[in-house]
Amino acid sequence: MELLKNYARGFVKNVKNAHWRGLTEAACVFPCPGCREGLSEQGWNCFCDECLGRILRITGPHCPGCGGPQDGILAYCSKCMRIGVRPWRDAYAVMELDPFGLELVHRYKYGGQVELARAFAALGAELIRRSGAEFDVIAPVPLHWTRYCTRGFNQAHLFCLLLGRELGIPVRRLLVRRRATRRQARLNREQRLNNLTDAFALRRGAAVVGRKILLVDDVLTTGATLTEACRPLTGAEVSIMVIGRR
Ligand SMILES: [Zn+2]
Ligand SMILES: [Zn+2]
Repeated sequence: MELLKNYARGFVKNVKNAHWRGLTEAACVFPCPGCREGLSEQGWNCFCDECLGRILRITGPHCPGCGGPQDGILAYCSKCMRIGVRPWRDAYAVMELDPFGLELVHRYKYGGQVELARAFAALGAELIRRSGAEFDVIAPVPLHWTRYCTRGFNQAHLFCLLLGRELGIPVRRLLVRRRATRRQARLNREQRLNNLTDAFALRRGAAVVGRKILLVDDVLTTGATLTEACRPLTGAEVSIMVIGRR
């Protein structure tokens, strides 16, 4: 017993030792999840400077409809002007889905590279901090359980959890997916909206009235999914965030 205590005491002393700490930190450095080579100054699983240079981040004034860059004198971009009124107050997009952005999101969603979630979340948190916006709660757009089973994880939820941790904002699953829907990719906007009618409902007991909610999804194309997901959140002030927009 005494031997064990001594061992424990020695271990604690070692951990407190600066040299030892340096060693463990050195052993915990992970390469950048973008190129799998470079190292980030920001910590584990963040993008290296080279990847940050390649990613088309939206840093200037953004469109409150899609989070993309403003392309005229109006707040809304031309694409959002064509689509019409959005049910959310503001929109944030971490990156444009140019070929590199698209590759990153594909590797995250279908390639099993889940560690990209932290790199995306670090950039998303930076975007929110810079905007000065404040939220009571962050909520993911849910997947139907059948889709969850085939993919193994909800990419929006994982991104959400890490974003919430970065920002110190609670993450709650406020919505449930009532039914499985057809894949959206090959449908136009009208078909997408029909496909999604009544797809989402408020989770039992979820309090949303009067709260500032940041609703999170992985990708915004036409915004049909997020539009439908906003429907049960009546009485709340909703803004949206996505990893990528196109
Ligand atoms: Zn990199
Ligand atoms: Zn827009």
